[in-house]
Amino acid sequence: MGTTATTQLVVLGQERCSKRILSAGTHHRCLGSRRGLPYSAHRGKKSVNRQALDDLKQQIPLMDYLQAQDWHPARPLSRGRWMGLCPLHSDHKPSFLVDPHKDLFYCYGCGRGGDVIRFAELYHQVKFPQALALLHQWRGVEPVLQETARFYGLQLHRHGEAIEYLYQRGVRSPELIEHMRIGYAPGGCLRGWLTQLGQTMPALRQAGLVTGAGYDAYVRRIVFPLEGNLYGRSLSDVAPPHRFLPGTKGGLYAWEQVRRYPEVILVEGLFDYAVLWQAGFHNVTCSLGTHLNARQLRQLCDGRRTVYVTFDADGNDSGQQAAQCLSCSLREQGITARPVSLPKGHDPNSFFVAGGSAQEFQHLLDRACL
Ligand SMILES: [Zn+2]
Repeated sequence: MGTTATTQLVVLGQERCSKRILSAGTHHRCLGSRRGLPYSAHRGKKSVNRQALDDLKQQIPLMDYLQAQDWHPARPLSRGRWMGLCPLHSDHKPSFLVDPHKDLFYCYGCGRGGDVIRFAELYHQVKFPQALALLHQWRGVEPVLQETARFYGLQLHRHGEAIEYLYQRGVRSPELIEHMRIGYAPGGCLRGWLTQLGQTMPALRQAGLVTGAGYDAYVRRIVFPLEGNLYGRSLSDVAPPHRFLPGTKGGLYAWEQVRRYPEVILVEGLFDYAVLWQAGFHNVTCSLGTHLNARQLRQLCDGRRTVYVTFDADGNDSGQQAAQCLSCSLREQGITARPVSLPKGHDPNSFFVAGGSAQEFQHLLDRACL
């Protein structure tokens, strides 16, 4: 058989494979069976508690895990699926298919596929029990973050400089502080608190909350809990202003509360979000920067809506360019996108801090054109 014929067969095979993935209910062998025992290492053994595995997989969506490993989807396919470069082999054109709804992947290049546990096995080149341990450890960071957010929340009202900073940035209502769970990291006391609660140093280091040398990573920062992360805004002029813990920045801010609105305002910073929410615009969400990750883009496109892209009107026009660029991608996905022009040199936060009213902001939205 010549090379061309072989290639055709391979293509046909892939074609069939992709159709099988497409059809609900059926399951391609590449993706493993949902019922039987998909893990080769344990085929035939009954020692693994099926329910525990299902629980673990439910708690760790494949897409979240992939993105935490810095995987970036290259292009969307139908039904919310994505293609990207394969993280399991040296890939030059996207051949790695991810179905976030089924939490399954398949690579047309190296022919491997499966669920998040299978991915961890292949990616970290470990056996099944080690893959489970890694995933458990990864998931374990979440409780530490919750505890940290609670601790920083308690610190906020004990530090006048934090309250004063919030006041300067237009954050004034107690409801808003509660809604965003805003806290303050004074530095130098988180480690003691968490270890007292039984958290271990390796866990704190893994979460990025404590440095290698054992100091609190966040010092003199206003903190905002995110999904699987913590954003810290420095009060000091000498420290980098913005900081995140290692890992993904997560999805769009407060998306579950916002997605039901037919019109959504998208801003780039949490202080922009804060003043808009405080002014009564509860259909606001935040992308934490002008570059949206794949998950955030997918969220914006998960239904019919109008998105008002309200990035900073900075001097060099980079915010406006990013807004135009994002609006184009959104339109390609069938979303109505309207870039909003703020007065030169303003972001939504400074607009309100400088005395802008909700009514005036509404005018800016009304003026935004397609
Ligand atoms: Zn591959």
